[in-house]
Amino acid sequence: MTARPDVLVIGAGIIGTACADELSACGLTVTVVERDAVGSGATAAGMGHLVVMDDNPAELALTSYSTALWNQLVDGDGAAGGERERHEYSRCGTLWVAADDEEMAAARTKQATLAAHGIACELLDAATLYRLEPQLRPGLAGGLRVAGDAVVYPPKSAKLLLERARQRGAQLIDGEVRTITGTGVTLADGGRIDAAIVLVANGAACVQLLPELPIRPKKGHIVITDRYPGFIRHQLVELGYIKSAHAASGDSVAFNLQPRPTGQLLIGSSRQFDSTDKAVDLDIMTRMLAHAARFVPALSGLNAIRCWTGLRAASPDGLPLIGPHPTRPGVWLATGHEGLGITTSLATAKLLTAQIMNQAPPIPVTPYLPSRFAQLASPHV
Ligand SMILES: Cc1cc2nc3c(=O)[nH]c(=O)nc-3n(C[C@H](O)[C@H](O)[C@H](O)COP(=O)(O)OP(=O)(O)OC[C@H]3O[C@@H](n4cnc5c(N)ncnc54)[C@H](O)[C@@H]3O)c2cc1C
Repeated sequence: MTARPDVLVIGAGIIGTACADELSACGLTVTVVERDAVGSGATAAGMGHLVVMDDNPAELALTSYSTALWNQLVDGDGAAGGERERHEYSRCGTLWVAADDEEMAAARTKQATLAAHGIACELLDAATLYRLEPQLRPGLAGGLRVAGDAVVYPPKSAKLLLERARQRGAQLIDGEVRTITGTGVTLADGGRIDAAIVLVANGAACVQLLPELPIRPKKGHIVITDRYPGFIRHQLVELGYIKSAHAASGDSVAFNLQPRPTGQLLIGSSRQFDSTDKAVDLDIMTRMLAHAARFVPALSGLNAIRCWTGLRAASPDGLPLIGPHPTRPGVWLATGHEGLGITTSLATAKLLTAQIMNQAPPIPVTPYLPSRFAQLASPHV
């Protein structure tokens, strides 16, 4: 083991592994500490939808930059052959479904915003919507198609990113970080590792190590079906999703349906604040499935084979924390990615590494700096 790595990364989810990959590519020595299997946290629970989101300019900047990085990873000059298959990447596109005229107006606004940012997308009238996705229920107003959006299998991607880092000498330690000290970390087995930088990338569990962080868990459910190849072609998301996804409290469900390359379907989504109990909640799962069947009635006749939950790490403004902890020297943060961490992982790694290396960031970092939260400004014990 490297005696004193440049960076010790806590957590081998998609964020920690993407950061390990990028940091090691810059020549830094990296050690990753993971208490469970690689990619087994929220990363394994996530849908793996790589989606450009535009609720605010910072979200649009981060998601569009990161989806471009995903394209580069699987298709770019340096990509090894078969990279799409290895990540189970499929560029199915997103089809945002507008139920009524109000949501159609939202589709037009979204189209204008994405187009102004150079993201290819097309408004669909109802006839085109049904031609593309005949399983949708009658009576919908239309939609918006974003053809460049894609899906991956997140735990596999996390393993692949870590593998790249390990090929450059990064170490993986099977252990649980108990405390962050001024000079590194202590482990649950009594061991300690010193490092120049400690990167907190352990998702919703970050508050166990740094209670001052403004992160709350947001539980989500997913159901997976048997194989039904060709049942739908795009990731289908209701435009109403935007209203529920960013609610600051309460439980909510939204229609979100994904075709896996295997022919299986992932049915989402639900959001419940402050629950850390990972047991499936039958009430909200039933609500979620009933809501999905209102958009795609034939779902009711399909076989579901498994369901699970995961905890998103939600920050008050919906943006991740990427950068130095303002009052803990040597401690850096890459957490708070909520429902977009698979999408934004690669951009997070670039922004974090640029800051650590004192290089110009590829997009402005200010909206994601942890120092935007006043509660981090006072010293902590
Ligand atoms: C239901 C659901 C659907 C989602 N769908 C999407 C989607 O379609 N697209 C998208 O972009 N995002 C999606 N997300 C969000 C995405 O999954 C997360 O933002 C992302 O996985 C966060 O990754 P992470 O590495 O920060 O956290 P995690 O994946 O939770 O990784 C943290 C790791 O740290 C480890 N750890 C924790 N504490 C310690 C410790 N003390 N010591 C050592 N190791 C520790 C954990 O074991 C874990 O492996 C979804 C999330 C959920 C829950």
